[in-house]
Amino acid sequence: MRDYLCEDTIAAIGTPLGKGAIGIVRISGKRALPILKEVFRRKSGERVESFENRKMTYGIVVDEFEEPIDEVLVVFMGAPYTFTGEDVAEIHCHGGIVVTRKVLREVLKRGARLAEPGEFTMRAFLHGKIDLTQAEAINELIEARSELYAKVAVKQLEGSLSNKIREIRDRLLETKAFIEAAVDFPDEEIEILETGKIKEKLFEVKDEIEKLLKTYREGRLIKEGIKVAIVGRPNVGKSSLLNAILMEERAIVTEIPGTTRDVIEETVTFKGLPLRLVDTAGIREAGDIVEKIGIEKSIEKLKEADVVLFVIDGSAGFVEDDRRILKLIENRDNVILVINKKDAGLRVKCEKLRNLFKHCVEISAKNLDGIDELAERIMELVVLEPESILDGNEVVLTSERHYELLKRAKESLDKVLTSIDSGYESPEFLSIDIDEALKSLGEIVGEVTTEDMYDIIFSRFCIGK
Ligand code: GDP
Ligand code: ZN
Repeated sequence: MRDYLCEDTIAAIGTPLGKGAIGIVRISGKRALPILKEVFRRKSGERVESFENRKMTYGIVVDEFEEPIDEVLVVFMGAPYTFTGEDVAEIHCHGGIVVTRKVLREVLKRGARLAEPGEFTMRAFLHGKIDLTQAEAINELIEARSELYAKVAVKQLEGSLSNKIREIRDRLLETKAFIEAAVDFPDEEIEILETGKIKEKLFEVKDEIEKLLKTYREGRLIKEGIKVAIVGRPNVGKSSLLNAILMEERAIVTEIPGTTRDVIEETVTFKGLPLRLVDTAGIREAGDIVEKIGIEKSIEKLKEADVVLFVIDGSAGFVEDDRRILKLIENRDNVILVINKKDAGLRVKCEKLRNLFKHCVEISAKNLDGIDELAERIMELVVLEPESILDGNEVVLTSERHYELLKRAKESLDKVLTSIDSGYESPEFLSIDIDEALKSLGEIVGEVTTEDMYDIIFSRFCIGK
């Protein structure tokens, strides 16, 4: 259960695992200082009773037997001027990741609890350090059932969306200032507007908004899961592939009853991707959709699928029966050809079928070979820029609220542009629609609030204060 009252003192390693010479253990909460005093000693072994705020102190971390674990630099930062708004202590370890973990373990032994993903940021919100989109991201994070989704949510939590929205808003404000100049200096009005500068600026802003809107498709897939159908003739290894995927899976997360009575979907995480295996029961039982439910229903299923995995037995080649199935999925750009049984020697390779299949991967379901690559291919198909999402560089919309408000902002801008084109009446007129767009953007980050908005968002929290 999450700790919305921030009673616990939490701790975690705050640096990327594995890399870098320094590992930082971050502690936040009421007991940050007492815990720091417990584990920290001067090089001489002497306890330190008071730390200067925000000043690094050099020394060692000891275990409960006063045995040194690592040489460290520590810093204490008192509430409220910290990231979380609470007392924060940081221990900068120099002995590599193993040692950093040991230091963390000591900290946990002295009464801190291991922080959940995003929990430091959640506290920042609870203490009023972050805005609405960031707060919403906390919900997303709690609900996140795959690493990829968690990554997107964490990014939003860190303010990526807020920053983007503010950037768009600032550009729009600039444009508005331009228009208002036209109001204030009516003589120059026509000249200013005729420069085309306003239109140009509006198009730029609109472009930014449209780019963001486009990410909603992938955002939804990341959030709700990617529907995957596996097809192929008997004995090519569909069940084996399914097993390979299920083996990767950390946990079966949900069972969603489908829209029709007889369809069951299962969501699994596969290499960090949320996959919804369509008609899993059927797939498991009979090996594949075509076998189980017949051609017609299969076609329906294939239509619904975000990704179709077309499995063939590469050791047998691309045979007549494969062609029959190919007919079903022709003209679809979301098909990945999976050439299986690589271990048995392939008679057909991706190279050869390049003109038929844009996306192809050679695997051995038996040896779990090529499974990573398959995950990458799936990702490429549904996600615009997988690397940038994984690096956390891309802002991805996952919330319908954000999507709708952005759409409204765009519509307001369309109105402005139409007015300009159709020989507007007066610049004040344009300003009204620009204000509408600004209002929509403001609502996203919570600067402009509507009455029910907080209710909707915060009813999901059990903040209790
Ligand atoms: P399905 O009918 O398409 O579901 O195929 P299965 O998964 O049941 O596999 C059919 C046969 O192919 C079984 O004997 C599997 O052991 C074998 N098989 C599946 N994948 C591989 C593979 O990667 N390499 C080899 N050599 N055999 C495989
Ligand atoms: Zn099978």
